[in-house]
This record gives sequence, structure tokens and C-alpha cells, in this order.
Amino acid sequence: MRSHETICPLCLSENCKVEEYHGDYTIYQCNTCKLIFSHPMRSNFDYSNEKTHWRREVFRVADEISKLLTLKEKVKVLEIGAGDLRCISYLKRCFGDKLEAYAYDLFYNHYIIEKANEENIHLLHDLININNEKYDLIFLFHTLEHLENPREFITKIKEQLSDGGALIISVPNPKRITKIIFKKEAWDYPPYHLTRWDENSLNFLAKITGLFPYRILYEDFDFSLHYLVEVDVKYSIYQFLHKLKRIYMEKGINKDSKIIGLKKTNTKKTKKLLGFLVHASCFALASVLTTFFVILGKQKGLSLTLISYKPMQHDKKVIIFDFDGTIIKDDSFSLILNFMSKANFLKKIKLFLWSKMYSYRIIDNTKFKSIATGTILKGLSTDQLRHLCTKIAVDLISRNRINLQVLQDLIEHASSSNNSHIIILSATPVEVVSSIMYEIIKRLYPEFLSVFRDKIKFIGSTFKWNQNNKLEGLLENCYQGKKKDKLIRMGILECHTLYTDSLTDDQSIVEISANVFVVKSDKIYREER
Ligand SMILES: [Zn+2]
Repeated sequence: MRSHETICPLCLSENCKVEEYHGDYTIYQCNTCKLIFSHPMRSNFDYSNEKTHWRREVFRVADEISKLLTLKEKVKVLEIGAGDLRCISYLKRCFGDKLEAYAYDLFYNHYIIEKANEENIHLLHDLININNEKYDLIFLFHTLEHLENPREFITKIKEQLSDGGALIISVPNPKRITKIIFKKEAWDYPPYHLTRWDENSLNFLAKITGLFPYRILYEDFDFSLHYLVEVDVKYSIYQFLHKLKRIYMEKGINKDSKIIGLKKTNTKKTKKLLGFLVHASCFALASVLTTFFVILGKQKGLSLTLISYKPMQHDKKVIIFDFDGTIIKDDSFSLILNFMSKANFLKKIKLFLWSKMYSYRIIDNTKFKSIATGTILKGLSTDQLRHLCTKIAVDLISRNRINLQVLQDLIEHASSSNNSHIIILSATPVEVVSSIMYEIIKRLYPEFLSVFRDKIKFIGSTFKWNQNNKLEGLLENCYQGKKKDKLIRMGILECHTLYTDSLTDDQSIVEISANVFVVKSDKIYREER
């Protein structure tokens, strides 16, 4: 039995079974991690003429980049297996100067080098990280399944990610509709593809390499996959003809005369015409099938995508403070809207109408806050916003709406030990929370101002600003579950201590916190668990 000698290249288990034989290769499936792999794991394939395909996963990458951009000014992105650069250059066009683009592949022709120069994409000639460069996001589309040692490769790549950096990997979807219909697809075999992945094995890969598997997504089938159906149609017809020929041969039906007869008509012109007819009919057949697949192809597209994040490597305690209702006793968002409505009569009416809709539950909290930001705050400049936050801070202090006990705990944590990450987490936009906090500290504990600037990080919703630095609305909200998403994007997967006023609102953070303090008016209760 050959299976006894074979160990899984991913989880190193010996518990593997033979799936099928393919030429010199045996294809196994690992019973532990579910990876399907070839034996030997050797590819001598010539990739110099490899075609690049447009991959819709690039939209997922764009999503993650815009989320990372809510945490930092610029992101550094590397595509591995970039081909003719169509995906990375799409991203470069989307994000412009905010994206520092890098690309790596085995071959660069003159056209690719020119394109990279024009579009300001840095081409790497080696993946060995000499300068210890760190990327905020690395992605590889349909590359993993070609690698001889995927686990080792991803382990190395992970080292090039910054803390909280994202690794996005897409592979052929094992549930793709073309596989269901055509069963065997020639391109999914060794030496071209050495491995086949599913949710199990991708999750395993993330965990074993020390990444946090954040999301796994199945693509839908769409019209851009017409090429795939055409390849399958041609291959099926070819196989059918091949079988037919063999049957004829075996039956020995007048084979000499048949072949001679065919040869007679094989002039150059008829060959061309025949070739054209074959292509045209394959194209037509593939078009009909593609339309059919698009209708049926929910989650049955070509790609399965893993989005994973690199946890922050630190030995610090993460201490998180909720802002609204915890550090201050009011909702800062309502405060800002109140102040705005006082300043402008028209905005007051708008706000009144929206809040009525909210009170009659026609719209929910999230919707109300997003709309209110859009209509009420729109057009504000950064200075005006800061001015408003100062007013709010002064108002909060004069009305005794600050939980001094919580604030003192925060100051104590920040000034006493160097061994903690202190985060103020809020659904209210970061700009608002940090300005209000700054003004409060300036007035109540001015000696703490420099520690405050250095040590405290803010996570919250983010405002969208236009080119003239005027407020446009919300770029990304940070309500409830999204708070945890943002922490993950910073590489934070565990919290040592959480201060909150609402276990339900912050439930996702409560789940990852070792100690939870609940703040009710002036009192702090330790949540027993
Ligand atoms: Zn395995």
C-alpha cells in the first residue's frame, strides 16, 4: 500500500487515502485536514506562457484595503503571482497614493515592466525579504495550488506581514459548478495543480501558520467565467471523440479506408474551415451553458477565498475602555447632533424628523446614526468639528457627566505600566472621541496630556472627508460586531480588561475579554464569569 509512505504536506498526518491515479502521480486526500494533494508534490510545469485571468476576488481585497485605511494613512500591498499585473493595477487605480503597490511573479516581459513603471508598481525579483520589509496586505490568487510546499511558503510569507496585516488567498472552489457538471477538469491536475483546497484545509493552513482565519468566501458564478466553460466543453468533446475513435479501432471497422478517406479531405482550407466551425460551436455551446450556470451558480463560482489576519505579537495587556456611557455618561453622538441642531434651524428640523423616524422604529439605531451624520454633519470642516467637540467636553464637565472613577483607572493604567495597550473603543467616530477626550484631559488632568497622546489608541467609526477637508458622512461605521472586526485588523485577538456600560452592545468584545467591568452611573461592577 503506497498510502502508508505518504504523509500530508499540510498537517503531516499519515492518515491519507488514494483518490485516483493520474499519469505518474497519485492523488491523495488527507483524512485529518481534508487537503487533496499529489504524490509526488513536484511540478515541472513551464509557467513562462501562463495567462493571467481577471479575478473578482480583487473586490474583496479592495474591501479589506479600505478597512485598513480607516486605521492608517497608507497601506503597503504585495501581490504574489501577479501575472500581467491586471489585479494589482486595478487596486492602484482605486486607491492612488494611499496604496504602495508591490508585485511578484516568476517572469516579467517587456510589456509588464513598462506597465509597472507607468503605474508606479514595484516589481520584486525575489521573495526573500532582505530589508525586512513589512506589508499591510499580501494576496495570492490561484497560486497556492501550484506550490510544491504550500505550508512552508505561507509560513515565510507571514513573516512579511505587519501586525494586524491581512493575507488573502484564493484557490479553485471545490464546489464550483463546472466541476459538478464536468467532474474532471484537466487544469485541476498535476503537474499544473498539486493541491486542492476546501474550507477545512484553508482554515487549517491559517491556524498552523499562526494566522487568524477571519472569513472564508465562496464566489458566485458569473459571465467572466465563460472561458472556463469553454475549456471544459472543448476538453469533454475531445475526450468523447477520443473514446469514439478507440471504439472504432477496437471494433476494427474498416479503419484503413476511413483514415485514408479523412486524409483526402484534409486540405489546408478545409482544415481551417473545420477548425473555425469547431471553435464557433464550442463557443456557442459554452455561451448557452454559461447563462445557465449564472442562474444556478450561487456560491458555485471559480474561487474560494480565505481572508486571514496576523495577530499582533506582544506580551502586553490589552485594556479597552468603551467611551459612550462608560467614560462619559452620555451618548457623544447624540451630543454632537444636539449641538449641531442648535446652530442651524434647517438642520434642527431635519434632525427632528429623523429622530421621530428612529423613535417610531421606522429606522434602527445604526441607520439613524449614519443618516444623521450624513445630513446633519455634512459640510463641517475639521476646525469646526474640533470647536464643537470642545463645546461638548466643556458641557460634559459642567454637568458632571464624566465617570471620574473610570477616567482615573484609565490614567492609572496608562501612566503606571509600560506593559499595556490602552484602547478607547466607540461606535462614535474616532475624530469626535479623541477630540472630546483631549479636551477633557486638558481641563481635568493637564499633567497627563503627554502620556495621553503617546499611549492611548482610538478605534471607532470613521468619517469620510472630501478634498476640501469638509465632512461628507460616515466612511465606515463601527457598531457592535464591527468593533471586534476592527480589533482583529489591528492584530488584537484577546483583551485583558474591558470597561463597558453594556454587555449586549459590546458582546463581541466581552467574548474575548478575560476581565470585564460594568459601569453603571458612578459605580463599577466586576462581571463574574
Ligand atoms: Zn492533512
